[in-house]
Amino acid sequence: MTPMPESEERLVCPGCATEHPATERFCPRCHMPLVYPEALGADDAPASPLQQQARKIKRQYTEGEPVRVAWARNQAEAEFIQSLLLEQGVPSFLRRARGFDVPDFLAAGPRDVLVPESGVATAREVLLESEIVTDQPQASGVDRPLRLLAGVLCAFVVVALLAWVGTLIVN
Ligand SMILES: [Zn+2]
Repeated sequence: MTPMPESEERLVCPGCATEHPATERFCPRCHMPLVYPEALGADDAPASPLQQQARKIKRQYTEGEPVRVAWARNQAEAEFIQSLLLEQGVPSFLRRARGFDVPDFLAAGPRDVLVPESGVATAREVLLESEIVTDQPQASGVDRPLRLLAGVLCAFVVVALLAWVGTLIVN
């Protein structure tokens, strides 16, 4: 029975893992009752994934309406994008892409990735750096010929090296 540390005067939403000041009672987005981060896991247990997530989220990225920043082919890809965003402190939400919200696609269908409006700029930077195609039309396609050229050059270098090593072995 250790007393609550006073530095932990924050509450966390069990739905979206967003942090809120202790004066709040409900998550403005999910309308879930907020809990102490400690309540999500036992006192002496290592932090739960949800707690770890909640600690990474930066408060300045939690304001505003959700905005779609990316599109994922499936749940796994969507969760990968979410983890990239979370590393920069941006909380995100998944939504089944429109037209795919039928039972056949519940597990496998494409997902929209949404972030709060205040996190959109950071999210787009993260996604661009990670070369994940976003909704920005100019972000995709432009660098494709360059990447293709780089690939061809790499293949050429590898072939040249192999040929060179080959001549060394023969001699
Ligand atoms: Zn919430």
